[in-house]
Amino acid sequence: MRYQETLYPEWGQNFTQERVLFETHTGHQDLVIFENARFGRVMALDGVIQTTERDEFVYHEMMVHVPMLSHPNPTRVLIIGGGDGGILREVLKHPSVETVTQVEIDQSVVDLCVQYFPNHSQGAFDDPRLSLVITDGAEFIENNQTAYDVIITDSTDPIGPGEVLFASPYYSGCARSLTDQGILVTQNGVPFMQGDEVTATYRRWAGVFATRRFYLTPVPTYAGGSMAMGFASKAKLDLPSISSLESRANSLTNLRYYTPEAHLGAFGLPKFIQALMSD
Ligand code: SAM
Repeated sequence: MRYQETLYPEWGQNFTQERVLFETHTGHQDLVIFENARFGRVMALDGVIQTTERDEFVYHEMMVHVPMLSHPNPTRVLIIGGGDGGILREVLKHPSVETVTQVEIDQSVVDLCVQYFPNHSQGAFDDPRLSLVITDGAEFIENNQTAYDVIITDSTDPIGPGEVLFASPYYSGCARSLTDQGILVTQNGVPFMQGDEVTATYRRWAGVFATRRFYLTPVPTYAGGSMAMGFASKAKLDLPSISSLESRANSLTNLRYYTPEAHLGAFGLPKFIQALMSD
């Protein structure tokens, strides 16, 4: 058996399925978890690869430690999506974190990932600092009255339930929900294949955020090139110095991807991606 990703009609990656562990429609999305000889356990939602045991650390470390170490003292963090628990695991590594609110639309994803991907969350869902809210992230943000230091949008692609997390009302709500120095980071697609998502986000952030950046991370199973991660703030933020990153990164345990050099290098964008950042 083989699993064919269906994100792009003309092209896509496929996996041998040594074993299908679980398959269902959760009420929000089609979910399948299977075992692959090369990547270990793999989860897909609505035909799109979400995470694998083998390469999850690349994405989760760069989605979390870049904003967290760019903020002087992140104590209150909001995660939108992230049902597999990898983002939460990495956020809780930061000694400054006092509370994490995670807003996930699909309880099934949390339950199944705790069961089938225990190394993603590693018990993070039991951490007393966590408040887990099962609802639509866009609705949560619309009604939110709390200010967060870091907001991480670990969403599916802008199809199905994830679509609202790429829209202007969501971004304006995130701006309202950030402290003055607060930072928003977003899963923003693979520019070589989904360049329109970079352009759309960049334009929707105009007038909302003074800092509108993207950084790149090569996640092997987000096929088609490096993934773009959106990085925004109401404040005009410069990149941190390598020395400030080195001193703070030392307090983070069990890193396998993040380094201060990788952090700063990730913001070096090739010309075709700079060209996508047009108003
Ligand atoms: N790392 C993956 C990627 O880059 O595509 C994302 C993985 S994580 C499993 C994506 C999560 O977003 C899923 O758990 C899904 O249920 C959640 N999600 C999708 N739309 C959402 C919404 N509107 N509000 C909250 N969570 C949402």
